[in-house]
Amino acid sequence: MNKPATPNSFRTGPDEQGMFGIFGGRFVAETLMPLILDLERHWNEVKNDPDFRAELTNLSTHYAGRPSKLYFAEGLTKHLGGAKVYFKREDLNHTGSHKINNCLGQILLAKRMGKKRIIAETGAGQHGVASATVAARFGYPCVVYMGATDVARQSPNVFRMKLLGAEVRPVTAGHGTLKDAMNEALRDWVTNVEDTYYLIGTAAGPHPYPELVRDFQSVIGSEARAQILEQEGRLPDTIIAAVGGGSNAIGLFHPFLDDKDVRIIGIEAGGRGLDGIEHCASMNAGSPGVLHGNRTYLLQNADGQIMDGHSISAGLDYPGVGPEHSWLRDSGRVEYVPILDDEALEAFKLTTRVEGIIPALESAHAIAHAVKIVPAMDKDQIVIVNLSGRGDKDVHTVANMLGMEI
Ligand SMILES: *Cc1c(COP(=O)(O)O)cnc(C)c1O
Repeated sequence: MNKPATPNSFRTGPDEQGMFGIFGGRFVAETLMPLILDLERHWNEVKNDPDFRAELTNLSTHYAGRPSKLYFAEGLTKHLGGAKVYFKREDLNHTGSHKINNCLGQILLAKRMGKKRIIAETGAGQHGVASATVAARFGYPCVVYMGATDVARQSPNVFRMKLLGAEVRPVTAGHGTLKDAMNEALRDWVTNVEDTYYLIGTAAGPHPYPELVRDFQSVIGSEARAQILEQEGRLPDTIIAAVGGGSNAIGLFHPFLDDKDVRIIGIEAGGRGLDGIEHCASMNAGSPGVLHGNRTYLLQNADGQIMDGHSISAGLDYPGVGPEHSWLRDSGRVEYVPILDDEALEAFKLTTRVEGIIPALESAHAIAHAVKIVPAMDKDQIVIVNLSGRGDKDVHTVANMLGMEI
């Protein structure tokens, strides 16, 4: 692929059509267009509205627990013997990950739009739980679409959503995973035009979703940037985040995109290796195509059929990636690197032992890359890793991988 010309700023996208270069846009059915345009109009109204911002900040502070800490991971730093490692502690948020940032923003948007009903899709159930949480907080009925396969293997999260008052609808189409749940949510949206808000879970989907989800998640990077300036008096040398659909990563990256000396690295799920099909590295082993209303890098076969990704981490197995990442990849501003299941598992164990922090397996992918590059860096250099979530949800998976019983 030809490298596009380097823009003056990497922070101005998307354009009016919702494009990041050749990626993004809104490839949706005619019937969905009025809803998308209505959403865009309201989004443009609220995005710079001080009252909206104040309400969001208030909830982020007192309900979700922001700002999240920027923590010097001294144990890991000593262990690796190179650059200083910091963790941005999204694991400390209410519901255990960065997902609440997006859900709070979107539920306030739904309220502004006068919507009466919330729908969401979920894979492993983390976004479903966060959506059910904000729906409970604001008194909305909530329907969560979840692939039937995922319903069976994520029963604790299904139970949590039910406790929170949401209805979980299993989707049997396709392989019964996240991609199918997302299709079903889009279908529900078209048939319930008047009253329903679709609370999408990552920085993907048709414009303006990639932009608004990025905006709500950018609180991660804005805080981290101010915190490192305060704690170290300078910007980091490298920042790292795991990429599923890409929301925690774009949230960390976006405020740093024009800091030319900051190296930015996104981590894809390398699964059992990129030579086979058991991975979820759409930017390293996929090709551009259209899925869920936007053009982006996807895992697809020669006929354009979307493939099911594999990762030990359920939050990383979306077969696509948000369109802004595809653009950042091709423009060369951000590097995207795969990390294997086994490497993530090692980083999970290491972080637990030397930091007393059990990271989400998704976040462990980002840490695993730090483990690789930090030892060769100078001691006065700084690396920030986004700890996107906590690992309590993953203990069964880890026990399984280690051949242990809980
Ligand atoms: C969902 C999830 C991810 C992946 O989603 P993104 O949209 O790529 O951020 C990463 N980490 C955790 C803890 C998650 O729950």
